[in-house]
Amino acid sequence: MTYLLICLASGVLGALVALRKGSSPPLWFLVSAVIPILGPVAALLYRRETEVALRRCPGCGTPTRIYDALCMNCGTELSYPEELEIIEPTAAVRVRARL
Ligand SMILES: [Zn+2]
Repeated sequence: MTYLLICLASGVLGALVALRKGSSPPLWFLVSAVIPILGPVAALLYRRETEVALRRCPGCGTPTRIYDALCMNCGTELSYPEELEIIEPTAAVRVRARL
């Protein structure tokens, strides 16, 4: 019985963390309830791909991830971007970058 309560509390905690980080709360509830304590920790450490910094392709202007070596749109080879090339991953930019 106590174990079930721990699982439930852990699940709720994982879901709350997921909600704050913009991940899927039902998914993280499940993960956190099945793996108590480690689940919420995983939710905390889980990094969404959309949090990755973006830069604009100098060839076509499409937002790409800063660690991409090639533009997925036009095939331009990308070197590591200068500080001023890095752009904020806003929602509109993410849609264009298909993240
Ligand atoms: Zn491009």
